[in-house]
Amino acid sequence: MDIVHLTPEFAPLAKVGGLADVVYGLARALVKKGHTVHVLLPKYDLIDDSQIEELRMHSSFSIEESGQSISNTLYTGKFQGVSLLLIEAHHPHSYFKRGKIYGERDDNDRFLYFCKAAAHVIKGGTFAIDALHLHDWPTAGTLLFLKDQEHPRTVFTIHNIQHQGRCSPFNLERLDAPFSYKELADPLYVNTLNLLKGAILYADAITTVSPTYKEEIQTAEYGLGLEKELIEQKKKLYGILNGIDTDYWNPATDPALFARYSVDNPLLGKQKNKREIQKQLHLTDGEKPLVVAITRLVAQKGPELIEYGIGKTLELGGQFILLGGAPDIKAHAHFSQLYPKNPDVAIFLEQNETLAHQLYAASDLFLMPSHFEPCGLSQMISLRYGSIPLVRSTGGLKDTVIDNVNGFTFDAIAKRGVDSVLTRAFTLYKQEPKRWHDIMIRGMKADYSWDRSADKYLEIYL
Ligand code: ADP
Repeated sequence: MDIVHLTPEFAPLAKVGGLADVVYGLARALVKKGHTVHVLLPKYDLIDDSQIEELRMHSSFSIEESGQSISNTLYTGKFQGVSLLLIEAHHPHSYFKRGKIYGERDDNDRFLYFCKAAAHVIKGGTFAIDALHLHDWPTAGTLLFLKDQEHPRTVFTIHNIQHQGRCSPFNLERLDAPFSYKELADPLYVNTLNLLKGAILYADAITTVSPTYKEEIQTAEYGLGLEKELIEQKKKLYGILNGIDTDYWNPATDPALFARYSVDNPLLGKQKNKREIQKQLHLTDGEKPLVVAITRLVAQKGPELIEYGIGKTLELGGQFILLGGAPDIKAHAHFSQLYPKNPDVAIFLEQNETLAHQLYAASDLFLMPSHFEPCGLSQMISLRYGSIPLVRSTGGLKDTVIDNVNGFTFDAIAKRGVDSVLTRAFTLYKQEPKRWHDIMIRGMKADYSWDRSADKYLEIYL
């Protein structure tokens, strides 16, 4: 098949978070299965052209915005077998030359412009397309520009329903987008349109990133206003678990580790990683269970429960290392003053890829008490690295971590949940090493590669 992915992110060229990894992983899995895959995204200034093979200009076209004609260049290139289609907008407001992907005041205008330009490329007919796969609200507007015309089958994936692309009618009018006020009206805010709602109505199929999240977003608690539309469209709604890149996340070959190990004999290698990290971070060494959290310190990830988990771990006689990106200054200030000089706690408030790899390998337990979690990749990585996950049973966490089988789970968003998983895990660690080992090995053996999920997408593309 010829498949086009429309996305604001693609790893590692233009990455903010998990979405970039997902599009990269899925695109590569589809290529391995023999399909032709194009990834269409803006040619941001932050993309390093030198990483792209065969980068060349393909064509030029113009897009009307507020009565002005703006010129664009379409580039083609290749990245690890995936074909890239990059739209460079020669826009007076330098829409995609801001040194970042999101977080600009005019994000609605920037991405709606991209949607109009992408629709132009798709309608142009230069590229054969059997299925058009769109990712998250920044691509949703494309469906408005395509809906009244013949177009390939469209599949829209909701990676996180928290981001809905709320905008004003003016954002659409300035691009002459055909739209219906009634159909796009935001369910919660007056005089506001909702691009994700439009995508739910107009896409031929909607997917989200785990079977449990698919059910959850049809409830008021998780649907954040769009539950009614999702229930109405449930016949075309699917939940497909994301995969992880099992070449990149492989403890047997991972160059970031102090010692490599595999599922056949993980104990010695894991212990070497633990000792080395304890030494480097000046933590006490010894047989204490090491708990880690590797996360973004935002409300979704349950920072208050992570903080509670640090205290509880110390009380139970363990060690805790937190690696938390803290985009919010308040969260940064709060976490940076916790447990100064405690020889059993280390806190790093940053994004640190190498340290993340080392902590997955060194740790015994991985705490992930998310309030909600569409899929979650971290728990799948921790399973693969033999760090037993302790998770709140929600979304993709519920689909991947099973209590007492490959991890420990709790239900309520409450300290008592963290209390229960830590206490149970510590008891097992101290009293039943054989069962501990079985739980760890079961997690390491599970298959979370993209292979299976890619087949499920292919069924939906047809
Ligand atoms: P989300 O995409 O919501 O942040 P996921 O669990 O789906 O959560 O993916 C998180 C990815 O980002 C994982 O690969 C994880 O290792 C990585 N990550 C999260 N926080 C950090 C951090 N502070 N430093 C390095 N990597 C991180």
